[in-house]
Amino acid sequence: MNDYTINTKCVQAGYTPGNGEPRQIPIIQSTTFKYETSEAMGQLFDLEAEGYFYTRLQNPTNDMVAAKICALEGGAAAMLTSSGQAANFFALFNICECGSHIVASSSIYGGTFNLISVTMAKMGVTVTFVDPDCSEDELNAAFKENTRAVFGETIANPALTVLDIEKFAKAAHSHGVPLIVDNTFPTPVNCRPFEWGADIVTHSTTKYMDGHAAAVGGAIVDSGNFDWMAHAEKFPGLTTPDESYHGIVYAEKFGKGAFITKCTSQLMRDFGCIQSPQHAFILNLGLESLHVRMPRHCENGLAVAEFLQQQPEVLKVHYPHLPGNKFYDAAMKYMPNGGCGVISFELKGGRPAAEAFMKALKLAAIETHVADARTCCLNPATSTHRQMTEEQLEAAGVPAGMVRLSCGLEDKRDLIADLKQALEAIEK
Ligand SMILES: *Cc1c(COP(=O)(O)O)cnc(C)c1O
Repeated sequence: MNDYTINTKCVQAGYTPGNGEPRQIPIIQSTTFKYETSEAMGQLFDLEAEGYFYTRLQNPTNDMVAAKICALEGGAAAMLTSSGQAANFFALFNICECGSHIVASSSIYGGTFNLISVTMAKMGVTVTFVDPDCSEDELNAAFKENTRAVFGETIANPALTVLDIEKFAKAAHSHGVPLIVDNTFPTPVNCRPFEWGADIVTHSTTKYMDGHAAAVGGAIVDSGNFDWMAHAEKFPGLTTPDESYHGIVYAEKFGKGAFITKCTSQLMRDFGCIQSPQHAFILNLGLESLHVRMPRHCENGLAVAEFLQQQPEVLKVHYPHLPGNKFYDAAMKYMPNGGCGVISFELKGGRPAAEAFMKALKLAAIETHVADARTCCLNPATSTHRQMTEEQLEAAGVPAGMVRLSCGLEDKRDLIADLKQALEAIEK
C-alpha cells in the first residue's frame, strides 16, 4: 500500500482480503480467542508471540482500522482507543509519570486542557502552557529538567490557531523529548505532522475521520522516529525491564513498535479504553471517503468565512485559511490544500445577537459537535464556557457573541443563504 497516494490508502489500506474472504473488513465480535494449548496462550501473555487473547487489549477489526490510519499518517505503528480523550491521555501517560512535566500549547481543546491541567495534575504530572505563537526563546524557557513531552494541536479546537510544528519539534528534540500532535482537525488528508518532525500523532476519530456523528473514538500513531534509548534516563518505562512481562525492555525488543506495544500491553491492559469493533467498522466506513469529504468541508468553510467577513453584523471572522488571518502563512505552509471546515466569528450584537442568529438558522443545528457531514453551530458563552463571566470570556478569547460554525457537506449556496436569512433575523 505504501506506493499509493493517500486517496487510495483512505479506501483500501489496512485490510487486503485473500481468495474468498470478505471484501469489507470483518467485525470480529468476540471478547476472546481460542487456543489449542496453554503454552501457546502463555507465549502471548509473555509478549513472545503476536496474537489476540482478549478484546480489552486488542481486537483484529480495530487493528485493521488502526493500520489504515497508520498508513495515512505515514507512521510505524498505531492503535485505536475508545475516544480522543483516551488517545491523548494514553499518549502522554505512556511516557509521563508522577514527577514528570509537560510543555503544552495553551491553545488546545477544552477537554485536553482539563485532562492535563486538572486530572493529570492529581497524578503528579505538571504542565507549562505556552502561546502557540511564542518565540523560540519563550518556548525553550518552558522546559524543565523533568520535561517528558511537548503537546499541541495542528489546528486548535475551537481557537483555530495553527501550530508551528517545525518550531515545536525543534524545541522538543533539543531537550531530548518527543513532540505529540493532535491532528484531529486537518486529518492526514490535509496535514501529516510526521513530515514536519512530530513524533507521535493523536486523533479524536469522532470528528472528520468518522465524519457522520456516528461513533466516538480515538487513535494514536507513532512515527517510530524518536530514539528512546538515546534518552534512556528520561524514559525508563521504555528502556528498562517491565517486570509485569518478565523483564521485557520495550525499546530493545520492539524497535519502532515500542511505544504502541507498551501502550497496548500496559495502559490498555490496565485502563481498558478499547474501541468496540463495531465502532471501528463504522470508523472505517468514514475513512473510506475521508479524502473526498475533506476538500468539500474546506471549500464550504472558506466560502462561508469569506461571506461572513463582508457582513455588517459580523465583527470578526477566525479561519486560518482566510487571507489576513494571523495564522494564514502557517496554514498555507502546513496545509496548502486547506485545513478544516470549522470557523468561528463574533457578532457585533454580542450574546443576544448570537442567540437570535442561531435560533433563526434552518440548516445548521445547535450541537456540541464539529466535523459532521451536517452543518452545526454552538455559542461557547452559553454552552461549553457557560461558567465564565463576560470579562473571563473576553480574556479567554471567547467573547459572548462568538459563534463556532462547523461547515458540513451541504451545498455552499444553501449554507450561505441560510446564514444570510439568520443574520437578517438579528434585531438592529
Ligand atoms: C473532540 C476533540 C478531542 C476529544 O475527543 P473525543 O473523541 O470527544 O474524546 C480531542 N482533541 C480535539 C482536537 C478534539 O476536537
